[in-house]
Amino acid sequence: MKSLSETDNNPNVVLRVAAPVPLRRLFDYLPPAGVTADLLLPGCRVRIPFGKRHLIGVIVGTPFESELPATKLKRADSLLDQEPLFGEALFELLVWSASYYHHPPGEVFATALPKLLRTGSPACTARFRLSAAGKEVDPAVLEKRAPRQFEVWQSFRQSEVLTRDGATLGQAARTRAFAALHEKGWLESAPARSELPTAYSVRPGPELNADQRAAADTLTDSSGSYRAILLNGVTGSGKTEVYFEAIAKALQRGEQALVLVPEIGLTPQLIQRFRGRFDAPVVAMHSGLSDGERLAAWRDARDGRAAVVVGTRSAVFVPMVRPGVIVVDEEHDSSYKQQDGFRYSARDLAVARARREDVPVVLASATPSLETLYNAQQGRYLRVDLSERPGSAEPPSVRMIDLRQHATQQGLSTPLIAAVREHLDAGNQVLLFLNRRGYAPTLFCTECGWVAECRRCDARLVLHQRRAELRCHHCNAQQAIPDVCPNCDAELKPVGQGTERIEETLVSLFPDTPISRLDSDSLQRRGELERALEDIRVGNTRLIVGTQMLTKGHDFPDLTLVGIIDADQGLFGTDFRSNERLAQLTVQVSGRAGRAEKPGTVLVQTRYPEHPLLEKLVGDGYDAFATAALAEREDVGWPPQQHLALLHAEATKHDVVYDFLHAARRAVPRQTNDAVRLLGPAPAPMERRAGRFRAQLLLQSSSRKALHSLLDRCAVVWESLSEARRVRWALDVDPYDLF
Ligand code: ADP
Ligand code: ZN
Ligand code: ZN
Repeated sequence: MKSLSETDNNPNVVLRVAAPVPLRRLFDYLPPAGVTADLLLPGCRVRIPFGKRHLIGVIVGTPFESELPATKLKRADSLLDQEPLFGEALFELLVWSASYYHHPPGEVFATALPKLLRTGSPACTARFRLSAAGKEVDPAVLEKRAPRQFEVWQSFRQSEVLTRDGATLGQAARTRAFAALHEKGWLESAPARSELPTAYSVRPGPELNADQRAAADTLTDSSGSYRAILLNGVTGSGKTEVYFEAIAKALQRGEQALVLVPEIGLTPQLIQRFRGRFDAPVVAMHSGLSDGERLAAWRDARDGRAAVVVGTRSAVFVPMVRPGVIVVDEEHDSSYKQQDGFRYSARDLAVARARREDVPVVLASATPSLETLYNAQQGRYLRVDLSERPGSAEPPSVRMIDLRQHATQQGLSTPLIAAVREHLDAGNQVLLFLNRRGYAPTLFCTECGWVAECRRCDARLVLHQRRAELRCHHCNAQQAIPDVCPNCDAELKPVGQGTERIEETLVSLFPDTPISRLDSDSLQRRGELERALEDIRVGNTRLIVGTQMLTKGHDFPDLTLVGIIDADQGLFGTDFRSNERLAQLTVQVSGRAGRAEKPGTVLVQTRYPEHPLLEKLVGDGYDAFATAALAEREDVGWPPQQHLALLHAEATKHDVVYDFLHAARRAVPRQTNDAVRLLGPAPAPMERRAGRFRAQLLLQSSSRKALHSLLDRCAVVWESLSEARRVRWALDVDPYDLF
């Protein structure tokens, strides 16, 4: 029998733990009883007492001393992992990103882990079998003494080799029984069933054209060490085939590939395309997975069973034994930025991770973000261009329609309607883009000027005719459509257009044409988008109206006309990125036209054809637009040349929001003010949303270092302000938008 002091080993080692709580600090513990120091590795999970609760945290260090006296330290309950959950590079990335984003480290680790690992499921798929002693156990005795252990013992006897989860029984009982058998020495680790392949197999892709070949060579030449590459090429120029070559190269070296794709880009077709090209296990990670599926995918990636991991934003945190290349497809897409909790950019972290893993990272886009273009200009990223489309596909011709000079019918100008008719008559397909769903954005009283507004937001309610309701697109509140003006009983009139109304107008203009509307109202169930796209692909649908759902890389072979119904929506948006987003959407949607042998036409409706950025975009293309937009950002002092952080706060009471932000501003030491400009507190562009008042303090600097050293000092101070307890607040480093 061991005495307590003997199990109380390594008294000098302290566990420094990232606990999943919203505090920007780590917590020290004594090691769990009976666990030797060599097992306490950074990156392993520990269960810890925390106040009245018990939490699961991640060890980030094992220093010899704590700032607290040893008598004040609590003992951790137990160690959950035998080996770290993350490789060294990924672990370092997580530690670094907590400090870069000034976010509580425990929440950073929690964001990086699948839910089941946060709640204590085993991370490894280590396999076990009965040991020699275990085989000699007398079943009758065991069954009588410990029926649960007997059940687990039975399942091992029947199946020889099992994972920890493989035995029957409920989770808790199983874990206890397993632990008991293991402790008695009746179970032992089984050798891995199969060794990892030294090379995954790859099918040949299509013969690349000269441009693609040169680009692919640049990518494959970079394998084996860090390099960030911008792969820029118009939609349909064959970027995917090019980065497939880089993936193929990695797989042939026995390395894995991580491919990040935007949220709405991860379709079954895309996965099919990967599976078709690579004769190796392809694993998808997205929000549609169950917790169990997600953990299984995580384990496959970590253990190397998955050769290619294709995933959305959070897949950037998936551990891989042998990473060889990272790809970020459609790198400009806003879904890479997490907008709540830990507000990271998966695109930026992919680059930071590639650097630590020492592998190449490919950022692919037809419309690169201004950040990435700037990095390429500065020589930090290598830029590779694909200029031509494979085969004979010509780029579409783009023209503007001046809405001040032409009559319109529900938002559709006479020349646009004529063009639609012409293209349909020629047997082709037509796509009309409007990034506004619903029937009309405003319901208005012609007599007294009353407008249907959300009670909880500074926003108008959108009229949804099909569902017979008014709906707020910000808080999702819904209500019945009033018959008459609640103010004066006069008739109400829908003003403006959404996709539903455009569809209605098209039906009346082109009654014999099959029309389909693609937006998140019309496509609510899983699989509906795929079906709608298939209808378009085989030509059942001739006329399509939709929102940004249409922008992703689908092949519409007969599509020859694209109409942008309202370019002005983005020209005068409230955000510094509005122009960029408008240009990206326009180019991406235009890219749907003229993909095969048929040349495409794009018509852009606007009231401001002389707007300089729009002129650049339509006249000279995205590159020229981006150059002009970058110059403008520099003049005005926005990113990417300048750096931003946004301290955002909201509460149901107006004053507490400003109390907090004023206190936060006062807490900024004076001498650091020079290099960093503080703007605000000011109301957010939408001051009231879902019943809460929202305001912010903007921090702006031309020196990233100065900005971060200020945040280093201030974030912990803000966190401890008494005013902070009465608001919801968040710090957003490199914010994507300003509200
Ligand atoms: P992007 O990713 O730039 O939009 P893709 O790689 O998806 O372009 O290519 C567009 C289409 O052209 C796809 O159907 C693809 O299979 C085809 N394609 C690309 N490169 C070639 C090539 N070298 N030979 C034949 N077809 C190609
Ligand atoms: Zn009225
Ligand atoms: Zn609302």
